[in-house]
Amino acid sequence: MISSQRCLATRKIETANPRQPAEFTRANDRELTTGTASEEPRASPFNRMIAFDRVSKRYPSGQQALANLSFTLARGEFAFITGHSGAGKSTLLKLVLGIERPSGGSLVVNGHDLMAMSPNMLPSYRRQIGTVFQDHQLLNDRSVFDNVALPLEISGLDPREGKRRVRAALDKVGLLSKERMSPMALSGGEQQRVGIARAVVNTPRIILADEPTGNLDPELSAEIMALFAQFMSVGVSLLVASHDRALIDGLGYRILTLEEGRLSSEASPHIKGTAANEY
Ligand code: ADP
Repeated sequence: MISSQRCLATRKIETANPRQPAEFTRANDRELTTGTASEEPRASPFNRMIAFDRVSKRYPSGQQALANLSFTLARGEFAFITGHSGAGKSTLLKLVLGIERPSGGSLVVNGHDLMAMSPNMLPSYRRQIGTVFQDHQLLNDRSVFDNVALPLEISGLDPREGKRRVRAALDKVGLLSKERMSPMALSGGEQQRVGIARAVVNTPRIILADEPTGNLDPELSAEIMALFAQFMSVGVSLLVASHDRALIDGLGYRILTLEEGRLSSEASPHIKGTAANEY
C-alpha cells in the first residue's frame, strides 16, 4: 500500500562545504534556501523534478513492464527504487532518460514533457542527467582523467573549462591524486567512484543509478551511498535502483517498491530525505 502520510523532517538544510567546487554548491538556488517543509509539501508543483502520472510501459513484444505508475521526486530528493528482478526498475530509469517512451500516462522531468519531446531534443535533455551503472563501463586504455572527461568531449566544452570541471569532479569523489592512472589499477570501489565523477562532470540536476553497488562489498556500498548523499545535499535529485534491501533499508531514505510494474509500497522513514525542503 502506498503511504499517504509523509512525515516531514525538521532538519536544517546541510551547509555546503566552502571548499566545494562551485558547480556542486547549489545552496543559492531559490528552491534550496526558501520555504519550509511545513509550508511546502516535499514534491510540490514548484519543486518537482520528476513526475510520473499513471505511466504505463508496454514493450513491442507485448510485455507490460510498468502499469499505472504515479509518484513525484522533488529537487534535492534521494529515493530508492527496489523490487524483484523484472519488476520494472530499469524500465523506469530508461523512461526518465528518454531511452524508452511511455505507452500511456504523463512523465514530466524538470519541466520537460517526455511524451511530447522530439528525438532531436534528447541529447541536450540528457545532459542534465548523470547516469551510474553497476558495470561502470570505463575505458581501460584511457586515464581516469580522460574517462571522466568523456561526456565533455561530446558536449564540445572549452578545453580549459573542461579540465577544471573534470578535476572538480575527481576532487569531489576523492580521486584527484589518481587522475593519471589507468582505471585497471584501481579497486572496484574506486572504479565506481570514477563512474560517479563521470556522471556528475556535466553538473547534472538529476542522478539516475541502476544497481550502482551490485559488485561491491557492504562497506564500499555504504561509501558510494554516502557520496550520493553529498550530491543530494547540494540540490541534486537522485533515483537509485537497488535490490539490496539490507543496504537501503538502513539508510533512511524514501523507498519505492515495484512489483510486476506497479508501485506496491512506499516507505518514507525520513531520517534523511531531501535537501531541497527539509528545515
Ligand atoms: P528490473 O530492472 O526490475 O529487473 P526491467 O525493467 O528490466 O526490470 O524489466 C521489466 C519487465 O520488462 C521484464 O518482464 C522484462 O523482461 C521486460 N523487458 C525489459 N526490457 C524489455 C525489452 N527491451 N523488450 C521487451 N521486454 C522487456
